[in-house]
Amino acid sequence: MTKQLFAPTRTAALERLQSFVPKAGAYASKRNYDISGHPHVSVLSPYIRHRVLTEVEVLQAVLGRYAPSTVEKYVQEVFWRTYWKGWLEMRPSVWSDYKQAVHSSWNDVQTQSGMRSEWEAACKGETGIDCFDHWAKELVQTGYLHNHARMWFASIWIFTLRLPWALGADFFLRHLLDGDPASNTLSWRWVGGLHTKGKTYLARPDNIAKYTEGRFRPTGLATHAEPLTGMPNPERSPLPEAGELITGARTGLLITEDDTSIGWIVDQVTPVATACLNASAHRSPLHVAPSVHSFTQDLISDGAARYSERIGTQAGFIDAEQLAQWANEQGLDQVVTSYVPVGPARDALKPAQRALSDKGITLTQLRRPYDTAAWPHATHGFFRFKDKIPSLLGRIRGVRLADSQT
Ligand SMILES: Cc1cc2nc3c(=O)[nH]c(=O)nc-3n(C[C@H](O)[C@H](O)[C@H](O)COP(=O)(O)OP(=O)(O)OC[C@H]3O[C@@H](n4cnc5c(N)ncnc54)[C@H](O)[C@@H]3O)c2cc1C
Repeated sequence: MTKQLFAPTRTAALERLQSFVPKAGAYASKRNYDISGHPHVSVLSPYIRHRVLTEVEVLQAVLGRYAPSTVEKYVQEVFWRTYWKGWLEMRPSVWSDYKQAVHSSWNDVQTQSGMRSEWEAACKGETGIDCFDHWAKELVQTGYLHNHARMWFASIWIFTLRLPWALGADFFLRHLLDGDPASNTLSWRWVGGLHTKGKTYLARPDNIAKYTEGRFRPTGLATHAEPLTGMPNPERSPLPEAGELITGARTGLLITEDDTSIGWIVDQVTPVATACLNASAHRSPLHVAPSVHSFTQDLISDGAARYSERIGTQAGFIDAEQLAQWANEQGLDQVVTSYVPVGPARDALKPAQRALSDKGITLTQLRRPYDTAAWPHATHGFFRFKDKIPSLLGRIRGVRLADSQT
């Protein structure tokens, strides 16, 4: 049974942001502690993931209270998310290779009996490694894990239990309410040594004991983390062009899980009809937790409800295969949506985009200025990207909230 840590509304997200802001000054010194209730981190990721809150909004909130140097660490963590998004956007084959790896590892699990029981024990939290078992259960029950717990968990999965990394990433994606194709896939690759050549993350008992304040001190963990082989980083491809609105076109709006705050779109165009797409079931070929599906669904509905007077006739939720037919029935020339980044929603939309185009209807994906400014800098490692943070912050300082967020 999932314990509801995250109410699926913007109101709840704003309340959480407001309660975190006064604590942001202490984030740098305490953020690594994985303590019950997670008092030292913002616990905002399920909202940021679906853009109930945008990065700009969160950054402006902490920088409105503290000097940049005081909240530098927090700001950097938010930019880690941005970096991963941009990095994957320019290397989309990493996502398709990951999906392929899930399929082939899943085949192995089904055909190799020992492996099946080990995978099941890991997902059920029955490995006998107390901290790992605790985090497996916490993830399934709450849909959230602290960042340090995610790192330890992934490391133990890969180097101690020796299970395929892609199935670990898949387990996270099926249960995390913030499950994100970029942050999740790339963090798992990073732990396993696939992202930064030769660099892995080894979970150490002393580190776990220190940062769980003695709750756990596991024994029997791997003492060496040999980088995984295969799947080297591909060449970077150019960032896809963002769409441009066709003015005067009869326009429908599509709301997806990647951006549930549609104010910035309806400020630019008045849709005659709106449809919602929840592609969370596509996060995995296995069963995605019902809590993930319903959380995503509710956030999209909340986004639509906030603008109900400005979004025309509402079709409710449709499957991607129904999009072209819906658009045709509405007599649309254009379906506008917030840019859909690499991931399940884009996968679901690919055939739909072809079907739309066959009917002469354009799918226009508008990209937020923040993404357009930041993503191209994800060329190499995070440390090079980090150098761009001051200039990116300079750009968002003058951005009006009404344009950028809700
Ligand atoms: C193996 C692994 C898998 C992960 N999978 C996901 C995922 O599916 N979705 C996801 O949003 N994050 C993922 N992360 C990143 C990070 O663990 C979470 O974003 C963070 O723990 C969320 O908690 P918070 O909101 O309290 O974060 P805070 O520490 O309060 O940070 C504020 C915000 O910054 C961003 N952020 C913080 N740390 C990171 C990071 N290391 N990478 C990217 N963004 C970060 C998040 O949007 C977060 O909400 C993963 C990390 C690891 C090691």
